[in-house]
Amino acid sequence: MSSAVSLLQGQGSQPATTHATARKPPELLKRRVGQRRHMLGVQVVSYALIGSVLLVYCYAGTIPLIIPAAYFISGIGLVSIFIVLSEAHFNDRFEDHYLTIYQVAGHVALQLGFLLAAPQIGFVFLSVVFLIFGFGALRMTSRQAIISWTLTMIGLAPIFLFSSTPIGLPITTQTERLAAMLSFVLTIGQCAFVGLYGSTMRKMLYDRSFELKAAYKRIEELAELDELTGASNRRSIMRMLEEEIARSTRNGSPCSIALIDLDYFKRINDCYGHPTGDEVLRTFSITTFANIRSVDRFGRYGGEEFLLVLPDMDIERAARALDRLRTIIADLDWSAFSPGMKVTLSAGVATLNPNETSDTFLARADSALYAAKAQGRNCITSA
Ligand code: GH3
Ligand code: MG
Ligand code: MG
Repeated sequence: MSSAVSLLQGQGSQPATTHATARKPPELLKRRVGQRRHMLGVQVVSYALIGSVLLVYCYAGTIPLIIPAAYFISGIGLVSIFIVLSEAHFNDRFEDHYLTIYQVAGHVALQLGFLLAAPQIGFVFLSVVFLIFGFGALRMTSRQAIISWTLTMIGLAPIFLFSSTPIGLPITTQTERLAAMLSFVLTIGQCAFVGLYGSTMRKMLYDRSFELKAAYKRIEELAELDELTGASNRRSIMRMLEEEIARSTRNGSPCSIALIDLDYFKRINDCYGHPTGDEVLRTFSITTFANIRSVDRFGRYGGEEFLLVLPDMDIERAARALDRLRTIIADLDWSAFSPGMKVTLSAGVATLNPNETSDTFLARADSALYAAKAQGRNCITSA
């Protein structure tokens, strides 16, 4: 088996397993230690249960006391080695931090050793092999499973094929029958535990995948929005503009834009304070959203300047829509922020020319906005 273990070591020391600790955050490493403690604790309980079955066989006189004692000590000894490695964070160097294949190999080797030492109750140790594979399957990759299965087969072959050792499950006396029953009941119980554990993990992963999807969607949404106003951010509105230009070019439908700038906004900040200025920006944004179509795209272009993309609107309709918005903003009761406060906007409207790029399109809207400001503000100018 030692050659088998060295073969396993060769398999385990893939490049992916080195320096794994350096890349893992401390919380993850801490959680992993907890998971390993849990798993190793289950193994200790398992050895104690099988050990007690062996004690019943001992009581029945089927095996000498040395067998349960040696089984328990070597089982716990093997688990202890993995506990020490785990607590020393040796496992964290490997991608498979459970060292699954080494554990499976170690425990299977132990069962085969006891199968040889006490073949008269060999079925007890063979049923533990089922259990080991049940636990191992929770963590093993298919490659690891094939390797462990092959090694187990190599270990079992000489015992079954090249020796005449009788492998037994003695049930002559009542105590032996009790021990046999306990052996099966405990193994089946532990197999059920493994199955339940696996299905709980699967359900947890399933639920977690939904949570992750929702969180990812939310992150995507947040990454697209301007934090203060809830309008699309500049990157996002520019992408939408490009999309609308492409769609308009493809379909031959008109596409208009409006660059909107709040008038004398610096004064609002100076007179009422920056936080009030922020509230004004937010209120303007909400009011705009409430007064545009669902197909329209509204984003913060920078500071107190906003870009409105109006698909399927020619210049006249766009100018009318903007003038309506201008009136709504100007007529809004801003006195809730501060008595006598007035907020107005100016906007430059432009409609896409054939083969025009977003740069020249925006530049024309910006010139129109400049003209609106020059005309005295609180007005809309078309390019
Ligand atoms: P105009 O009518 O010519 O547009 O005058 P204006 O004062 O609005 O123009 P200007 O560009 O000089 O000032 C814009 C101001 O908007 C200056 C800046 O402090 C303010 N501003 C930009 N972003 C924010 C913001 O997020 N919150 C607040 N409160 N103010 C902002
Ligand atoms: Mg302004
Ligand atoms: Mg401005």
